[in-house]
Amino acid sequence: MPGIGAQTRAAVLFGHPVGHSLSSRFQNAGFRAAGLDAVYLTFDVPPPRLPAAVAAITALDLLGANLTIPHKEAVLPLLDEISPLARKVGSVNTVINRRGRLRGETTDGDGFLRSLAEETGLEPRGRRFLLAGTGGAGRALAFSLAEAGAAALILTNRTSERARRLATELADHYPGLELVLVPFADRARPLAAGDVDCLVNASSFGLEEESDPLFEPARFAGAPVVCDLVYHRRTRLLNEARARGLPAVDGLGMLVYQGALAFEHWTGRRAPAAAMFAAVRAVLGGGGAAGREAP
Ligand code: NAP
Repeated sequence: MPGIGAQTRAAVLFGHPVGHSLSSRFQNAGFRAAGLDAVYLTFDVPPPRLPAAVAAITALDLLGANLTIPHKEAVLPLLDEISPLARKVGSVNTVINRRGRLRGETTDGDGFLRSLAEETGLEPRGRRFLLAGTGGAGRALAFSLAEAGAAALILTNRTSERARRLATELADHYPGLELVLVPFADRARPLAAGDVDCLVNASSFGLEEESDPLFEPARFAGAPVVCDLVYHRRTRLLNEARARGLPAVDGLGMLVYQGALAFEHWTGRRAPAAAMFAAVRAVLGGGGAAGREAP
């Protein structure tokens, strides 16, 4: 690619704050590796300016946009169409500019599924998942797992009411899905009973150094796949799971694959995932979860 010129197209990220975001690193690496004349830019957009920012996607004929906190829900009424999955989840992280019509998608949950499949071979169909955390990420995962045919979702959340609300919504959309609510204090019970194929920490527990464990893999019955969506550090949960020989998946794959899916929506091309992973690892180095072996 010769460099930015008059024909260069742009994709953007809107969030507030966005200074920490790694998306521009791996999206630009992806555009370069694919030989596309495109660039990815990050904009700090305070909530009152979101409508003007979204209008700029069509005004400037951008490829599209990613949305992050706090815009993933607020953007819905500003779009022309919403994918069925994004409608169910109630959040959009990717906007595609289709000849002036803006379509909202959610790629977070499917990014996780692709990461899980790539790193462990686990496909959700017929499997039982324990999901700890039913905030934004947990919701996206729950709907993607249900869409992909999971047999059971066992939900636990620090605020139990939030898990109950999600279970009610899931039950409305997926009548065949087994839904179990577990009090947060009893969260290890399904694992101890060997009732779970895959455990996912989708809560913010582990974002900072943990004094107490969220789960103790030593007490799990069976050998579930253990996932933690945190990607900037090696969490205690994943360290202990790996020490026990359990398959362990951190949040880096979800981060890159949700972006890879957005890339594919914007360009119609398969995303060069290896180049995107390499770009993130170059930033995180050995200190983050990226210090683990390549997926
Ligand atoms: P969110 O919408 O703010 O939800 C936070 C969730 O974490 C809620 O379920 C909350 O429970 C729970 N929580 C917060 N502090 C807790 C604690 N000390 N103990 C137990 N539960 C706690 O945030 P989110 O977007 O869902 O993000 C959740 C996690 O996923 C974060 O670690 C984030 O970095 C990660 N994430 C990763 C990716 C990726 O691409 N890898 C993408 C999105 C998010 P309450 O309902 O009780 O408040």
